[in-house]
Amino acid sequence: MPRSTQKTTAAKKSAPPRALKVEDKLARLGLRSDMELVLHLPMRYEDETEVTSIASASFMGGSAVQVEGVVTNCDIQFRPRRQLVVTITDESAPLTMRFLNFYGSQTKQFVEGNRIRARGELRHGFFGAEMVHPNYKVILEGAPLPEVLTPVYPAGEGLSQTLLRRAISAAMARIEWRDTLPEALRIELALEPFEASVRLLHNPPPEIDEYALMDRSHPAWVRMKFDELLAQQLSLKRAQLARRDKGAAPLSVIGPLTQGFLRTLPFTLTAAQQRVLLEIRQDIGAAFPMQRLLQGDVGSGKTIVAALAATQAIDSGYQAALMAPTEILAEQHFRKIAQWLEPLGLNIAWLTGSLKKKDKIAAQAQIESGAAQLVIGTHALFQEAVQFARLGLVIVDEQHRFGVGQRLALRNKGMQGEAVPVVPHQLMMSATPIPRTLAMTYYADLEVSLIDELPPGRTPIMTRNIDQVRREEVVERVHAAVLEGRQAYWVCPLIEESEALQLQTATETHLALSEALPDVQVGLVHGRMKPAEKQQVMDAFTRGEVQVLVATTVIEVGVDVPNASLMVIEHAERFGLSQLHQLRGRVGRGAAASVCLLLYQSPLGQIARQRLGIMRETTDGFEIARRDLQIRGPGEFLGARQSGQALLRFADLETDQWLVDRARDVAQRLLKEDLPTVEAHLARWLGAREEFLKV
Ligand code: ADP
Ligand code: MG
Repeated sequence: MPRSTQKTTAAKKSAPPRALKVEDKLARLGLRSDMELVLHLPMRYEDETEVTSIASASFMGGSAVQVEGVVTNCDIQFRPRRQLVVTITDESAPLTMRFLNFYGSQTKQFVEGNRIRARGELRHGFFGAEMVHPNYKVILEGAPLPEVLTPVYPAGEGLSQTLLRRAISAAMARIEWRDTLPEALRIELALEPFEASVRLLHNPPPEIDEYALMDRSHPAWVRMKFDELLAQQLSLKRAQLARRDKGAAPLSVIGPLTQGFLRTLPFTLTAAQQRVLLEIRQDIGAAFPMQRLLQGDVGSGKTIVAALAATQAIDSGYQAALMAPTEILAEQHFRKIAQWLEPLGLNIAWLTGSLKKKDKIAAQAQIESGAAQLVIGTHALFQEAVQFARLGLVIVDEQHRFGVGQRLALRNKGMQGEAVPVVPHQLMMSATPIPRTLAMTYYADLEVSLIDELPPGRTPIMTRNIDQVRREEVVERVHAAVLEGRQAYWVCPLIEESEALQLQTATETHLALSEALPDVQVGLVHGRMKPAEKQQVMDAFTRGEVQVLVATTVIEVGVDVPNASLMVIEHAERFGLSQLHQLRGRVGRGAAASVCLLLYQSPLGQIARQRLGIMRETTDGFEIARRDLQIRGPGEFLGARQSGQALLRFADLETDQWLVDRARDVAQRLLKEDLPTVEAHLARWLGAREEFLKV
C-alpha cells in the first residue's frame, strides 16, 4: 500500500502543471473549499432525460432536443468552409451534424456504426434535419438515460461542465450537511432544509416545475436566497458593531472657523444640504468613526457640505483631508475652498503626484507638523511618506473612482503618531447615484445621506438625440451659442480599446472644429496632457477666453463653469448612462437654459435606443440609475470591485425585497440570542469574503 501511495505522489509530481491547473481554474471562480463548490449552483438545466425521434424532433422548432442514432457517414468537407460533417440515423430519419471547429481525433468517435446521443437545436437545412455543433456523446445501445435534469454551471475559461459536475458531486460527498438554521427557526420561517434544497438544485427530478426552477421561485431556491441574504445582513450588522468598538476623535466643536464660514457663505444652504450636514455632524461628534456616503446628484452642492464638515474637524483641533480622483478636480476643490476659507485664516496644504519634489517635501512637513489644517489632493495623500499629525476626518470625493484598498490606506493614516490610536471619520461623496437598497446591501457598513434637491435657480437641461450624420447642423448650433456669448463642451468618443486612438480622435475633432469655426477659440483637454497644461486650458475656459472646449472624458467629474450651457457628446451610445449623466451635469449650472446633444451612430441596437431614450426623458440621476439597473442588473451596475465580488449570487434585490426584510429581522434576533448560529452561518456563506465587506 505505501508503495502505491508513493507512486501516486511521484506521478503527481511529474505532472504538476496539469494537476494545479484545475484547482487554479476552480479558484478563479472562487471555488476553493468543498462548501464553495457545493454552493456553486446551476444557472440552468438541460433535459437529457428523454430521447426524441429525429423525425418528430423536426417539428419541435427552436428548442433543444436530444436524439440518438447510429453513424452512417463521416466526412471532412472543405466547402463552403472546412467542417466535419457526420450523419447519424435512427429508425425515423437521418440527421446531419456539422462541426466547424473540430479536432482531427474527433473523426475517430464517428466510426460507422457507432451510436451517438446528440443534443442541440434541430433545424431544417438543404439536406434535411441538421444540428450545428451539438453536444454529443458516444454510447452503447441501451445506455440508460439520466433520471434528473442535467445542471449547467457558471464556468470559467477551460473548465468543462463535466469537470465541474465531477468536482461538485465529490464535494457533496465530503461535506458535513449540518443545517445552520435551528430546526424551530427553519419551520417558523417555512423554509426547506438546507441539504434537501442543495441536492435538489444540483439534481432536480424531471417532473419538477421547471418554471419555478428557472425564475428561482422554487422553495429550494428561496432557501438558498434566504441563507445568502441572512449571511449578508449578519455580516453587515457585525461590521457596524465592530466599528462602534473602534476609537475616533469626537469632532463636535462648532468654533470660529465654522461660524465665520457660515457667516460669509455666498448663498444659503438648501434644506437638503442642511439636513445632511446635521446627519454628518451627529456622526462625527461621536467617539467611534463615521462611515458615511454622501450622495447627491451632480450640481447638488456636496462640496460645501464637505467643507463644513472639515471646518468642524478643524475647530475641534484635528486635521481634515480631502481626496479627489483627478488633479483637475482636486485643484477645483482647492481653489473653491481656499477662496472660502483662507480669508478666515485657514492653512491648506496641496499635495498631488505631479508636485515638484521640493514642494512635496514642504507640503509633507506641514502635514506632519500639523501646521496644515486641511489637506487637499489626489492619490498622493495616502502614500507612505505622508504622515498626518492629527487626522480626524477623511473626505473622499467621487469615491467610486477609488479602490477599496486606496480608501483603506487613507483611513489608516489616522492610526499613526498619536498615543491613543484614532481612526478618522470617513465621508465619501458620490454623484453616481446608487439606489438606496443597493447601497445598503452592497456596502457592508455604510450610512447614507442624500441631497435630494438642487440649489435654486437652475434651469433644466434639454436633451436631444441626434444621428451623427447631422453633425454639420450641430456645429452650426455650437456656433450660434458662442455668438450669443455662451460656451460649449464637445466631448469626444470613448474608445476603450485604444487610448492612442482616443487621443487622435480628440486632436482631429479639435482641428476640424477650429477650421469650421474660425472666429471661435477652440480649446482641447485630454488625459495625456501634463496637469499644468490641462489647467491652463481649463482656466482659459473658465475665464471665457476659450469658448468651445473639446475634451475626452477627463471633464467627466466635477468641472464647474456656469457659463457653459451647451454640451455635445459624440458616440453617446458608447458611454454608460451614469457617465453620460455626469458629463451632462457639466452644463445647467448657470441661469441660461442648457442643451445637451447626444450624437449617436446609427443603427442603434434596442438596448442602446432604450438607454438614450432614458437620457432624453429625465435629468434625475436617481431615476436614470434606477432604470439603468433594470436594464443591466446590479452586478454590472456596481462593477466587480465594489460589489464585494458579486456578493449576492442568488438573491435579486428587486424581486426578493421581502426576503431581505425577513433576513434583516432574523439577523437582529440571532445576534441577540444565538451567536453560535451566527458563527456557523457566516462561516458557511461568507468564509473568506467577509473581510472585503468591512471597508
Ligand atoms: P456637486 O454636488 O456636483 O459636487 P458642487 O458642490 O460642485 O456640486 O456645487 C455645484 C455648484 O452649486 C457650485 O458652484 C456651488 O458653489 C453651488 N452651490 C452649492 N450649494 C448651493 C446653494 N445652496 N445655493 C446656491 N448655489 C450653491
Ligand atoms: Mg463634486
